[in-house]
This record gives sequence, C-alpha cells and structure tokens, in this order.
Amino acid sequence: MMQAVCVDIPGGPENLLLRNIPRPQLKDGEVLIKVHATALNRADILQRQGLYPPLPGQSDIIGLEVAGTVDTLGPGVKGGWKPEDRVMALLWGGGYAEYVAVPEELLMPVPPNLTLWQAAAIPEVWLTAFQLLVFIAQVKEAEVVLVHAGASGVGTAAVQLVRLFGAVPIVTAGSPEKLKRAEELGAAAGFNYREENFAQAVHDFTGGKGANIILDCIGGCNWEQNMSCLATDGRWVLYGTMGGGAVEGELFGKLLSKRGHLLSSTLRCRSLQYKVNLIQAFTQRVLPHFSGQAASLTPVIDSTFSLEDIAEAHQHMEANKNMGKIIINVIPQ
Ligand code: NAP
Repeated sequence: MMQAVCVDIPGGPENLLLRNIPRPQLKDGEVLIKVHATALNRADILQRQGLYPPLPGQSDIIGLEVAGTVDTLGPGVKGGWKPEDRVMALLWGGGYAEYVAVPEELLMPVPPNLTLWQAAAIPEVWLTAFQLLVFIAQVKEAEVVLVHAGASGVGTAAVQLVRLFGAVPIVTAGSPEKLKRAEELGAAAGFNYREENFAQAVHDFTGGKGANIILDCIGGCNWEQNMSCLATDGRWVLYGTMGGGAVEGELFGKLLSKRGHLLSSTLRCRSLQYKVNLIQAFTQRVLPHFSGQAASLTPVIDSTFSLEDIAEAHQHMEANKNMGKIIINVIPQ
C-alpha cells in the first residue's frame, strides 16, 4: 500500500484527500520510483477542478513530475537503471504519491550536485520551456525572446534557457519582486504588465524591431499587445490561456501584415515517442549545465510543503504567489 492524494469530487483545495491505496502495478518496460518529492503545476489545479481529466488509461492521481530513487524494475526493462539510482521523471499523472510507475524511457538521471527535492523542480517546466524554444520556435543566437509570466515555473526555466542558447530574454510579470527575480536569472529587461504597456516597452528595448519570439501562456487579454510588439517574421508561441481563450478583433489581418507565425503546443497529451525524443534532446543539451564548475542553470524553488499540506500548496499557487516551483516533500528532507 502507499499514501497518495485523491480527489473524489472535483472542486477546491479542500477536496485533496490523503489516502492509503494500492501501489501501482508495473507494466512491461516500467520502473517503480520511490518518490522523494513532486512539484505543482498549473495543470494540477485544473485537474483538481475537474477541467483537465487524465488521459484514458493513465493514473487519475494528480502530479506530472517526480524525483526519487528506483525501487523496482518491471518486466522487460533494459535501459540500465538499477535499484537506488537517483532519477527524475515526466509523468502523465500519479506524482502526488509515495510510488509511481513510469516507462523507463521517461526517466532522467538527477544531476550529481542536486538534491532529489531540487530535481523535482525540473521535469515539467524545463522540458516545456525547452520544447517551446527548441522544438517549436527554433530559437537562434541573438534573437530577442519575450517571456510572459517571467517568474513562473516555466518562465524561470525559459529565461535561463534563452541565455544558454545565446539569445536575449526579456520578461513581463505582475510585481517588482517577480521582475527582480527574473532579472537575477538572466532577463535583460522586465516590464510590469499591470503598470505599463509592455508592447511599448518591448518596442523601446528593441529599437522598434520587436521580439523575435514570444512565449505566451496568457493568451486572450494580451493578444493586441503581443501582435504590436512581435517582430516581422516573428514566432508567437501560445502554450497557455491564463488570460482567456477568446480573441475579438483583427488578429489575422495584423498577423499577416507582420508575416507572423502563430504556433502552439502542449506537453502532457504528447505521445510516448515525442516525449522520449524531447527527453533525449534535453538530456544531451541541457542537463550537463546543471552540474560541474561551469554550471549555469538552476532549478528555481519558491517553497516546499509536505504531502499533508497539499491543499495549502494549491492555494499558494492559485493566489499567484510563487516565484518558481512549489515542491512537495513526500519524504521529509
Ligand atoms: P506558475 O508558476 O503557477 O506561474 C503562473 C504565473 O502566471 C502567476 O504567478 C502569475 O504571475 C501569472 N498569471 C496568472 N494569471 C495571469 C493573467 N491572467 N495574466 C497575466 N499573468 C498571469 O505557472 P507554471 O506552472 O509555470 O505554468 C505557466 C503556464 O504554462 C500555465 O498557463 C500552464 O498551464 C502552462 N503550461 C503549459 C504547458 C504546455 O505544454 N502547453 C506545459 C506546462 C505549463 P504574475 O504575478 O506575474 O501575474
């Protein structure tokens, strides 16, 4: 048996219930991870509310990422993992639990200098940011990349990756503290969208050229400013709609006049093969930069909660208070 967070009735954070349930049964090619830590993602809130159900055949326990140690190898596992290996993994679900079963190809080694609790901050948001920048937008050196929600989990990873790839990150965020955090991580400039027109600020920063890439998890309420500050031939990558999914106005006319590329992507519902390709590319190009003397990347942790305090952790995220990741210690540090 194991402890896990269950949701019997979709709703508020009070509906997250810690229960004893059977451990997952391993299928062919799966590894059982003893979870030391998991982390929150915005999608978890939607799933708790009943607005983002698990994919058919996947765990209905919330949680898209974990870090821990290999407990048991399932039948047919051949990737060279062994019990006690320190691993982190991207999940379709099941992270808010003491054990989770994961296809072996979705495991990554934890960089040597990081704790398992730090590593839990990596899989979902770093793979998302990497996917958007490399697979979708194909970022190039010296390009200006506007990252909305620059102090969010995805935003703090994206700012660092833009720097790693030799491009120039600029951000928006809703408070001076969040802008400062993004600038500490490498943002060349930051704009408080609550206090100024960020499109004008991007024009000023780029000498009127605009941003080559916009990483946009806000959507609807920002579309006119995004269109205004997108460079000619720029790529606007939509990956969330926290500011609404509807658009009213001349989007297509304005997009055409800039020869803009409107792109979008998701991660959770991608195929196993897509995730394997993403994880392999990330493991080669990015993971080495978390370790060693020349380490330039750091998982950004806002706060940690215990599994018993999961409701409080959800409230913290829903109040937009976090800068970086909210970690859940499944085993106390
Ligand atoms: P997070 O750490 O919880 O940060 C979200 C931040 O967004 C908030 O703290 C808030 O910061 C800002 N925000 C919220 N509502 C806003 C609004 N209406 N207008 C402007 N800013 C708003 O979030 P996360 O886990 O990094 O996720 C960020 C986004 O990425 C979410 O939309 C999530 O669903 C999406 N996502 C997409 C994928 C994908 O593959 N498509 C994968 C992972 C995550 P301020 O105080 O600065 O406003």
